[in-house]
Amino acid sequence: MGYVITIDTDKCTGDGECVDVCPVEVYELQDGKAVAINEDECLGCESCIEVCESDAIVIEEN
Ligand code: SF4
Repeated sequence: MGYVITIDTDKCTGDGECVDVCPVEVYELQDGKAVAINEDECLGCESCIEVCESDAIVIEEN
């Protein structure tokens, strides 16, 4: 079982909070937007959701 990460690029401000908080380095910024480059590593801790001020991140179990 893993997690599917969806980032609303219209909402993402590129502040990089998710990049900094994620313990397994799922995110990086590309052209000023967060991209989940290591989605397979996601632990489902939801720390990135908590720090995202624009509510741009949705994480679902699959
Ligand atoms: S839920 Fe946790 S492990 Fe998954 S991307 Fe967010 S901060 Fe990283």
